[in-house]
Amino acid sequence: MKVLVLNCGSSSLKYQLINMETEAVLAKGVAERIGIAGSFVKHEATGKEKVIIDEAMDNHKAAIKIVLDCLVNKVHGAISSMDEISAVGHRVVHGGEKFAESVIINDEVKATLEECSELAPLHNPPNLMGINACEEILPNVPMVGVFDTAFHQTMPKSSFLYALPYELYEKYKIRRYGFHGTSHKYVAMRAADMLGKSLEDLKLITCHLGNGASIAAINKGKSVDTSMGFTPLEGLAMGTRCGDIDPAITTYLMEKENLTSGDLNNLMNKKSGVLGISGVSSDFRDIEAAVSEGNERANMALEVYYKRVKKYIGAYAAEMGGLDAVIFTAGLGENSVETRQAVCEGLEFLGIKIDSDKNNVRGKETIVTTDDSTTKVLLVPTNEELMIARETKALI
Ligand code: AMP
Repeated sequence: MKVLVLNCGSSSLKYQLINMETEAVLAKGVAERIGIAGSFVKHEATGKEKVIIDEAMDNHKAAIKIVLDCLVNKVHGAISSMDEISAVGHRVVHGGEKFAESVIINDEVKATLEECSELAPLHNPPNLMGINACEEILPNVPMVGVFDTAFHQTMPKSSFLYALPYELYEKYKIRRYGFHGTSHKYVAMRAADMLGKSLEDLKLITCHLGNGASIAAINKGKSVDTSMGFTPLEGLAMGTRCGDIDPAITTYLMEKENLTSGDLNNLMNKKSGVLGISGVSSDFRDIEAAVSEGNERANMALEVYYKRVKKYIGAYAAEMGGLDAVIFTAGLGENSVETRQAVCEGLEFLGIKIDSDKNNVRGKETIVTTDDSTTKVLLVPTNEELMIARETKALI
């Protein structure tokens, strides 16, 4: 059985074709600049040469057609006919309160997704475009929607409710949803395997530290709290997002700087985070390089970033009444030795003892604490595509 996994953004489409018998990636790639001049597809079938196809793509349907052509191409393809694709798994960002699990996509699901678009105006519309395009091109292939929010639907009300007038939750569904759920779930499952324990017996904190970043408290395999909220802006400081701030800053800034709500959204989402503090970059590699050249603001950006992660670890350990392991994943969590070291420094009181030799590692599954560390710290590369493919297979 082969599953095609699609992750559609507003102008991009990432894909992987996975053989579910072996869970091997048969081909992967990305279509970029969809609907913009200069669009192209970067495609690579496992064991074959990478190709770049420069071709105009006015919309997601055109992009999916080119991707499918790549997959069945005799020279750089991975399958001999589209009939080999048994199902398509779509990453969908926001499932609202309706979807606590992945679902087989039908007209009713699509209608509900349209409703959820209001909650994720940047993400859900392109996800839906991808779903509609696939439906037209592969009408007989079942499709599954896998939601970033679904895993966090197990949060108790005391975690997801904001201290706002309750009517606003009822009227607009203003509450914490949480994101990166597929990643948090995947790394938690891997961690349990690596520790040789059942998820049922573990209190875990998963740190997804990528361009966007979030932390989740996972007790007995269920998400009980997470740092992103109503939108992916809350919580940790990120590459360009501010994360937690005093909400009164927003109205103050609107008045002082004469900002519209759009200006403010842009400031908090695109100009803040470590980019905003450092003035250097949103990429931690650039910031770490600037720090080594003595850039004070870059150093301050990292200190703010690390402290926020540490604060959430402390809070979630308290919330769960204990902690068995902390898991680091995504771009920064998997690759930055410094980040793991700095975040875990001073957490000995939680039973965490980092082994700096073991921690000097990038991008592979490993335990980075000393053998006598009572709380373990793990590096687990995330694999959202595989998780989406597994859920798709399970449903069909
Ligand atoms: P992701 O969103 O998971 O792809 O993560 C992307 C981010 O990970 C980049 O913006 C970088 O800031 C960070 N990153 C990736 N590789 C490294 C590295 N070797 N050292 C430090 N940060 C890294």
